[in-house]
Amino acid sequence: MNVLKLSSDLMSFKSISPKSAGSLEFIQDLLNKWGFDCHLLEFGETKVKNLYACFTGGKGPNVCFAGHTDVVPPGDEKEWDSEPFTPLVKDGILYGRGASDMKTAIAAFIVSSKKFLDLNKSFNGSISFLLTADEEGDADYGTKTVVEWLSKSNKKIDYCLVGEPTNPNILGEMVKVGRRGSLNGEILIKGKQGHVAYPEKCKNPIDDLLLVCSSLNEKLDEGSKTFQPSKLTITSIDVGNKVTNLVPNSVKLKFNVRFNDNFKSEEVIKLLKNRLDKLECNYDLQTKVSGESFFNFSEKLTESIVNAIKTVTKNDPELSTSGGTSDARFISKICPVIEFGIVGKTMHQINENISIKDIEKLSDIYFLFLKNIFKDKF
Ligand SMILES: [Zn+2]
Repeated sequence: MNVLKLSSDLMSFKSISPKSAGSLEFIQDLLNKWGFDCHLLEFGETKVKNLYACFTGGKGPNVCFAGHTDVVPPGDEKEWDSEPFTPLVKDGILYGRGASDMKTAIAAFIVSSKKFLDLNKSFNGSISFLLTADEEGDADYGTKTVVEWLSKSNKKIDYCLVGEPTNPNILGEMVKVGRRGSLNGEILIKGKQGHVAYPEKCKNPIDDLLLVCSSLNEKLDEGSKTFQPSKLTITSIDVGNKVTNLVPNSVKLKFNVRFNDNFKSEEVIKLLKNRLDKLECNYDLQTKVSGESFFNFSEKLTESIVNAIKTVTKNDPELSTSGGTSDARFISKICPVIEFGIVGKTMHQINENISIKDIEKLSDIYFLFLKNIFKDKF
């Protein structure tokens, strides 16, 4: 089983989120042949596909590799130098949608698991895969739902590695051990519309807006042991006033908060409400939580991957909690989770690509990771 071949096979499926387009079915066929217990799961009205597959060797820990086969749309295909869903190899580089995010990492963990199993069928534990076709979009019927299904079905995962592209530039430079939470907010500030020449007859919501902005921009915290400080970013201010002689009736402000493990999302919302209430302006706050922060650390899991990375790449990876949300936030609810994948430099871009050497190295890293975690001696 060749990692470049499997990467290319997976990249040929037009699995634009949330469509599997045959990608998960293809993997299921492969794993079935190797003796994995496969469950192709469909959730939601649109029957979003997910795959959970497990190979049990012994009673030891179940180590799960997680990822997604869906990809973002290619954008304007004319801008691409090659067909986005016809993988192309040129000068040691593999081009196509999903090369970085994250079909090559899936190929790498499947190939390394097969190699591990071929060498030792009776290892003491289980190897499983949790794959979804719903990560890049709303992610409502993806990993989140699979995690619920696992709990209901009494299927236990002990350690999980998510193969998202965690390295900004070089393979082996960064492992993610947690992520900040994220929430979006919208504030509508109401005033009283009127003529600018008669300010005493109106209430300008922009005056209140300025107070709201400086209040929102106040520090949330100083950071925590493992996380950078929480940060609120104002992303939009909308008055929509097209004339020059009118005090507007209302203004709308949008913001996003990335918060660390000092807060649960409802605590962030409470803190913001307290601050806004002190301003005595007429406001309405709406919030939507995208994910809580998490830090589910396991020394065994971390050491197993870090040691493998060091051996293969000679790099000492940074243990980071930076960046956006990922499906690891759902898995962290049931077991320790870590993220390590390929280089993410071109993810979601036109002409997405990856070095073939890096895919091979990643496969070697995952193989060593399995050896480390199961402590098998060959
Ligand atoms: Zn991804």
